[in-house]
Amino acid sequence: MIDASISELAAALAARRISSVELTRLFLDRIAGPGAPLNAFIAVDPERSLAQARAADGRIAAGAAGPLTGIPIAHKDIFVAEGWPSTCASRMLANFVSPYDAHVIERFNAAGAVILGKTNMDEFAMGSSSEASWYGAVRNPWDTGRVPGGSSGGSAAAVAARLAPAATGTDTGGSIRQPAALCGVCGLKPTYGVVSRYGMIAFASSLDQGGPFARSAADLAALMNVMAGFDPRDSTSLERPAEDYARELERPLAGLRVGVPSEYFGAGLAADVAAAVEGAIEALERLGAEVVDVHLPNAGLSVPAYYVIAPAEASSNLSRYDGVRYGYRATEYDGLIDMYRRTRAEGFGPEVKRRILVGTYVLSHGYYDAYYLKAQKIRRLIARDFAEAFKGCDAIVGPTTPSVAFRLGEKVDDPVQMYLNDIYTVAANLAGLPALSIPCGFAGGMPVGLQLVGDYFAEARLLGIAHRFQQATDWHRRTPQSFA
Ligand code: GLN
Repeated sequence: MIDASISELAAALAARRISSVELTRLFLDRIAGPGAPLNAFIAVDPERSLAQARAADGRIAAGAAGPLTGIPIAHKDIFVAEGWPSTCASRMLANFVSPYDAHVIERFNAAGAVILGKTNMDEFAMGSSSEASWYGAVRNPWDTGRVPGGSSGGSAAAVAARLAPAATGTDTGGSIRQPAALCGVCGLKPTYGVVSRYGMIAFASSLDQGGPFARSAADLAALMNVMAGFDPRDSTSLERPAEDYARELERPLAGLRVGVPSEYFGAGLAADVAAAVEGAIEALERLGAEVVDVHLPNAGLSVPAYYVIAPAEASSNLSRYDGVRYGYRATEYDGLIDMYRRTRAEGFGPEVKRRILVGTYVLSHGYYDAYYLKAQKIRRLIARDFAEAFKGCDAIVGPTTPSVAFRLGEKVDDPVQMYLNDIYTVAANLAGLPALSIPCGFAGGMPVGLQLVGDYFAEARLLGIAHRFQQATDWHRRTPQSFA
C-alpha cells in the first residue's frame, strides 16, 4: 500500500481491500515510527484524521466516492485548516489554531480526502533547505545528514519516505520543484492564479502558488483536478472553465518540441546533475520528441530580481504580525511601540528578519527606482524571453537544481549560496508560468530532478510529457532504503 498510486489506492478502497481508517492508520504509524527522525511534520492529530477517514468510509460505502475520497494527504503548514495548528513554521504563529479552511483545504475536504497532518517547512516559506523552521530542520530520507530542500521540505520528504501518498506545497521561487528534485519525488507549480491563495499564508503574493507533490505525474494530475479552480476570495484567482489535468497523459510525444536553454547548462551546474539531465533529454528524444535550442538571455538576472521583489512583498505581507490580533506577543514590554518591537524581534527567525530588512530597504524612498522598479523591469524581460522561446518549442527542459541535496548546516551561514539554489526555478515564478520537477536519475546516491516549464495553462501538456517519461523509466519508483 505504501508504494501504491492514488488510483491504485482508490481502487483498493472501492474494492474494500482496505478502509480509509486502516490506510490513514498505516501512514500515521509510519509518521510516528520510521518517519520520526525526518521531522517532516509539525502537527499530526490522529483523532481528527481518523474521524475524516471514518466519514470517507461511509461515503465509499454509500457509493458516493470520488477519486480522492479516503486518501490521506499531508499539507504544508502554510495552508490554514480549521481546528489545526497553522504555524508556517514560525514562532510568530506557534500558538495559532485556524478558525477556517484555506480554499485548497476546502477542496480536498469536499473531495473526501483525509488531512494526514501539517508538514514542516522553512519559516514563512523563506528558504531552500527546510532548516529555517522554529520546529527544527527537516531531513532528507535518502541521507538524513542532508537537507530535503525547501521551503516545502516536509511535504517532499514525507512523500519520498512513504509517510504520505501525496502532499501539498507552495512555490514562490522553487519551493515545490526544488525539494521535489532533492527528495526524488514529483512536484508541480501551476500557472499563477490557477490555485487559490485564500488561506495560504502570504509570503510574496505576486509569486506564491500552491501545488501538489506526488510520486508520479498521473497522481499530480489527480491532485490538480481537486486543487485548481476559481475562488472569488482570491482577487488573482483566474475564472476559467474547469479542466481535466489528466487529459493529455497518454498523448504520444511525437511532434513535441522540447527546448533546451544553454543558459541552464553553464558554470555552476554540477557535472553529475548535468549528465543525469542530459540522459533524460535523450530519453525524451527516443520517445519521439524533437530537441531544439532555445535562449533565455536574461536568465542570469532572475535570482537578483527575485531577491528584490520577493522580500519587498514579504516586508509588506509580514507587517500584519504585530502581536495585537493573533499569534505571538512578547510577554514583557514597555508601551505599544516596544510591544511591536519585542514581538517581532522574538517572533521571527533570522532569515525572515533579513527579508523584511531587504524588502523595506528596496521599497524605501530613494532606493525604490534603483532596486524595486529595476527588478520589475527585469521581470518583464524574463517573461518576454519565455514568450519568445515558446514560439520555437512546446516545453523547456533542464535541471531543477544546480546540485543534489547538500549537507545540513552547509549553507545556513551563507545566504547568497542558499539563494543560488533557486537559479533555475525562480524565473517561472517571475513569469507566472507552470513548471514541474520529476526524478530523472541519481548522482552520488542522491536524486536528480528534471524541470519542465510550459507556456501559460500548459499543465496538462507538461503532465503528459512527464507521464510518458515515467512509462519508459523507473526513477520515480526508487525508494530510499530505510523507508522501503
Ligand atoms: N528559496 C526561495 C526563497 O527562499 C523560494 C522559496 C519559495 O518558493 N517559497 O525565497
